[in-house]
Amino acid sequence: MQEILRIAVQKSGRLYEGSMKLLKECGIEISNGNNQLRVTAANFPVEVFFLRDDDIPEYVQDAVADIGFVGENVVTESDKQTDIIEKLGFGKCRLSIAVPKNGKLQSVSDLNGKKIATSYPFILSTFLKERNITASIHEISGSVEIAPKIGLADAICDLVSSGSTLFTNELKEIEVILSSEAVLISNKELSGNKKIILESLLFRIRSVKKARNNKYVLLNAPNDKLDMICSLLPGMKSPTILPLAEAGWSSVHSVINESDFWNMIEKLKAAGAQGILIIPIEKMII
Ligand code: ATP
Ligand code: ZN
Repeated sequence: MQEILRIAVQKSGRLYEGSMKLLKECGIEISNGNNQLRVTAANFPVEVFFLRDDDIPEYVQDAVADIGFVGENVVTESDKQTDIIEKLGFGKCRLSIAVPKNGKLQSVSDLNGKKIATSYPFILSTFLKERNITASIHEISGSVEIAPKIGLADAICDLVSSGSTLFTNELKEIEVILSSEAVLISNKELSGNKKIILESLLFRIRSVKKARNNKYVLLNAPNDKLDMICSLLPGMKSPTILPLAEAGWSSVHSVINESDFWNMIEKLKAAGAQGILIIPIEKMII
């Protein structure tokens, strides 16, 4: 029988959609229509387990699942023995310390002798130890942001993405302890066959990530501006240049990085580019 790689994914919550979208873009068909806990892919040797995110590091450590998609914050807090193989580019957030907006506490050093509410006692206590701060940690599993208001704690240590929850609860962020995103973790002792399936999955994941970070650009340019325009556009090897029907003009094709996108368009326009088209890339294999 062919071996199957078992992937643990969050059953529902903030990582569910990103995880399913990534598998889909990797060409892996998973149907979770009946809210099943375990689904085998139709066209790739993987089986997906839907679990609570907090359980994923332990299941991967104990080889109940072979790999998992889970927040780095959960991996660090759980302190289980797994390998972090790849950052997945979604579920970005940070674990921060926040205090009442108009209170006396201003910085981490003011937390000596205070009470901090968190769902991340391991990460927080490690951080406090490193900073030589003695504070008491009050562990709660949810709604951490209301703790200062109801008198349960002086400060909180919680996940933040946009900061709107902190704002609504009149809290301000004073220190980022950990930056996090979804990562692929793996059991430390995968069989040879499972490693081969994982390599094939990783190849697809990396192609999807590269494609998401890049755009295909097409533009027209007068031939006497081509040198300048091409020096701006590295492309995958170098830009493609094709003559237009109109004499003295060319069409230039290349790939540009999403992070530098607007800056690059300004420069291309200033260098004489016209009719610029930007097209998303579905997969990118280098
Ligand atoms: P579960 O029921 O699986 O235990 P949960 O309530 O613990 O779910 P979610 O709130 O769905 O977890 O968050 C899952 C992960 O999403 C977090 O561990 C974190 O990595 C990531 N995340 C991204 N942005 C945020 C945010 N603003 N707040 C909380 N988690 C975030
Ligand atoms: Zn959870």
